[in-house]
Amino acid sequence: MDKTNLIIRSRRVVMPETVSPASVHIRDGIIAVVAGWDEVPAQNPLVDAGDSIVMPGLVDAHVHVNEPGRTEWEGFMTATRAAAAGGVTTLVDMPLNSIPPTTTLDGFAAKLAAAQGQCWIDVAFWGGVIPGNTHELKPLLNAGARGFKCFLIHSGVDEFPHVTESNLLEAMPELALLNSVLLVHAEVPEPIENAAAKLTGSNPQNYQTFLNSRPRASENEAIALMIRLCRETGARVHIVHHSSSDVLPLLKSARGEGLPLTVETCPHYLTFAAEEIPDGATHFKCCPPVRERENREKLWEALADGVIDMIVSDHSPCTPNLKLIETGDFLEAWGGIAALQFSLPAIWTQLQKRGFGLRELTRWMSAAPAKLAGLDKRKGFLAVGYDADIVIFQPEKEFKVVPEIIEFKNKLTPYSGMNLRGVVEATYARGTKVYENGQFSANPIGVLLTK
Ligand SMILES: [Zn+2]
Repeated sequence: MDKTNLIIRSRRVVMPETVSPASVHIRDGIIAVVAGWDEVPAQNPLVDAGDSIVMPGLVDAHVHVNEPGRTEWEGFMTATRAAAAGGVTTLVDMPLNSIPPTTTLDGFAAKLAAAQGQCWIDVAFWGGVIPGNTHELKPLLNAGARGFKCFLIHSGVDEFPHVTESNLLEAMPELALLNSVLLVHAEVPEPIENAAAKLTGSNPQNYQTFLNSRPRASENEAIALMIRLCRETGARVHIVHHSSSDVLPLLKSARGEGLPLTVETCPHYLTFAAEEIPDGATHFKCCPPVRERENREKLWEALADGVIDMIVSDHSPCTPNLKLIETGDFLEAWGGIAALQFSLPAIWTQLQKRGFGLRELTRWMSAAPAKLAGLDKRKGFLAVGYDADIVIFQPEKEFKVVPEIIEFKNKLTPYSGMNLRGVVEATYARGTKVYENGQFSANPIGVLLTK
């Protein structure tokens, strides 16, 4: 099929302002025209999606691909195939868990070399802020990094050390000058250290023990610190994987003040509840943790309210041995949830129950993350002039998450065995079909977005 001249039509096309019948005309991988449903010239190659939904592909701005260096955890090929199968057409790779991390120009070069020729969808990259690398930020930005991630607490890997307030007072003015964005893992150590002292005698297989070990205070204090530094330095701040509902009022008032602050949360915080996680089920472990049911509902309210801007996966897999499934020790197991492929159906399943629809879905999972990564001139919208990154999605069908359909490398996921609503039928990257009903295109045509 000639990709320079393809039309995709449906009775339900999700555009920025409407969901209506339309035909999407694609030329050279770009959406050239959005016309009436029947405005289809006779000679044109046509994909008629019937009444399946045609919508912009998801932009997942928080994925740990872990290659090079920890390729046994994940890799560009498996991650981007999982993404395509899950309706994600752009992912932004995190700077840590790969070796080297993306905290220097050399590290970035190693990452690009590893990704080259392996990607089924388009991939962009975050750099990292660690103590002492402020001089690397401008070169990394010039080389195509979309912004920078930092930790306020041990990151889990020694080659990506966390920063203190004094490190941030060096890096953030530079980021403000560069008009870049700082992504922050917002947990501070002290409340966690204090909590650890009180855990003696607690059963490490019990989820409540883990929850007690990562108290809300750690997130709450970190958010207060970042709001203050955002105000003082003028640097844009983005809070990653937000979990604690305690600080939502504080975030709301900071945003009301006009601070350049954005917030993401993840499907697992919006799906699961601490009360329901079985003993020893370490595949539910991530940091900050999945909290109580009541916390989860407040996160949904914050999305509706605009206090939380977006939903991204924080796909962070590892090999099964590191999850300590046999001992079920929550305190010692690797923290990270693998679920990149299931973000779309997981959220679709949940949001419908709460009265939201397609407009919210694409705002939270396509438009807002595209904007965060500075890709909103070409990604995240189904509109003229945008890349033809398009998903055909059957919203009424259900499927069960079983290992055979999982495309990411290590199959351990908390969604295992669940019935989810919404099936990705086909995924197009810049007008080329890369996935359809379990099958992939012959070649990985994804590009590395360094411009
Ligand atoms: Zn992460």
